[in-house]
Amino acid sequence: MSAVESPRKIEVFPVIGLEVHAQLLTRSKIFCGCPVTVGAPPNSATCPVCLGFPGTLPVLNREAVTLALRLALAAGATLHRESQFARKNYFYPDLPKGYQISQYDRPFSTGGSIAIDTPEGEKAIRLVRIHLEEDAGKLLHDTPYDDVPENVSLVDWNRAGVPLVEIVGEPDLRSAEEAASYLTELRRLVRYTGVCDGDMEKGSLRCDANVSVRTSPTAPLGTRVEIKNVNSIRFVAKAIEHEIERQAQSLARGEAIVQETRLWDEKGGRTVSMRSKEEAHDYRYFPEPDLGLLVLDEKWIAEARGALPELPRRRRERLATAHGLAPQDADTLVSARELADYYERVVAAGVPGRLAANWVTGEALRWMKERRVSTEQALSFSVSPERLAGLLKLVESGEISAASGKDVLVAMLDSSTEAAAIVAEKGLGRMRDTGALEAAVAEIVAGNPSQVALFKSGKTQTFGWFVGQVMKKTGGRADPAAVREALTRALESAGP
Ligand code: ADP
Ligand code: MG
Ligand code: ZN
Repeated sequence: MSAVESPRKIEVFPVIGLEVHAQLLTRSKIFCGCPVTVGAPPNSATCPVCLGFPGTLPVLNREAVTLALRLALAAGATLHRESQFARKNYFYPDLPKGYQISQYDRPFSTGGSIAIDTPEGEKAIRLVRIHLEEDAGKLLHDTPYDDVPENVSLVDWNRAGVPLVEIVGEPDLRSAEEAASYLTELRRLVRYTGVCDGDMEKGSLRCDANVSVRTSPTAPLGTRVEIKNVNSIRFVAKAIEHEIERQAQSLARGEAIVQETRLWDEKGGRTVSMRSKEEAHDYRYFPEPDLGLLVLDEKWIAEARGALPELPRRRRERLATAHGLAPQDADTLVSARELADYYERVVAAGVPGRLAANWVTGEALRWMKERRVSTEQALSFSVSPERLAGLLKLVESGEISAASGKDVLVAMLDSSTEAAAIVAEKGLGRMRDTGALEAAVAEIVAGNPSQVALFKSGKTQTFGWFVGQVMKKTGGRADPAAVREALTRALESAGP
């Protein structure tokens, strides 16, 4: 349990609960046929329904529900056979209807949990609920257009009506690190299940963090402050860290924490007040009259369950056990589904699991990063898993050294040539020509009479130096055992 000390030495115990919005990967919006677009001209992906024209009616997108169900099942949540949409009323220019269609007291899913790793072991962070809703549009305050005066804000409704799930977590997190782990796990889960692309920078995954502190780990929960829309996991952790410190200092000064919404100011490295509870909205929720109940049947749930892949934590466990991998390596491999697929294809091509893990988490990943191939794109890395396997089999059999293997991998990056062909072409294979080895040994021995004399005088450590010289001369291709044997003979027969 982490405690934070403020300058005036008040020990506080943080409590954090996250609300996460995830944009569902559907082709069309949640209540109309408009496409979900990225980078389309402003307001081009709109229609009378998502612009809230009078007389239009919403029609629920089946695929949005299927994806939401898939995520809820992955989190072990309870699905409700009947749930209801509700109108959340408020005015804002990015909300053309004057209300958002969301779910309120009857969400389609409650409960479930997300497991995280902590220094004390695995910890389950419980979920309050997951519900479906529509996104709002976007306001543009810094106009990018020459013909629009400054201080004029523009609105783009392309995002209005894009399907979202909101994942509301219980206040089970106890530190900024735990919050970061939770977000990392959740992002991995939405990506594995194909529910959301998980891109926080682009806003397809957004997080509001609720933070409170208390003076003992068992005291009632303190007053919470909500920090809105921080766009990376690292910044969420930083924002929480600062907010905990700010609250600790307030308490140390004898001030009460006011319930409010704050924004993270990345440049200033602090949170700033946005609105207090008094200004909070009364959303005047009521059941959406234009939509019937959302009724789930067995078939629908089975369809969602059928599309569930092996989930990341289970996959990590399986890979670690099956191949005796270090926990850290197994974790890296499952950090993206495609990277784990890449690894499993290397193994399927006949490479021992640990050797494959070493190379995939080491050299292959290093080159992917260098080439700006994200782990989600691992399967389109220029060195396919099968070609990497070809290389690793040469390393495994001792045909080439690990050091040569790294060079061969570099040569494979920009060609489609198989490893074996590169090895043959560059002459990197083990030296099988014993004549050439003998010649190299003879040359080194003849060329270094003073070292030979040292060796003869009993300084047997110089033997290692001779081995090194021969390996260098043969470009690392000689078999070390054969080198030692040939050297022993040559040094014995060397004069005087
Ligand atoms: P609202 O509906 O106003 O957003 P909720 O009670 O549903 O409020 O809580 C929203 C989020 O705030 C949840 O993620 C929950 O875990 C978190 N939360 C609630 N109370 C606290 C608290 N005292 N400290 C930290 N987080 C809290
Ligand atoms: Mg809230
Ligand atoms: Zn539309």
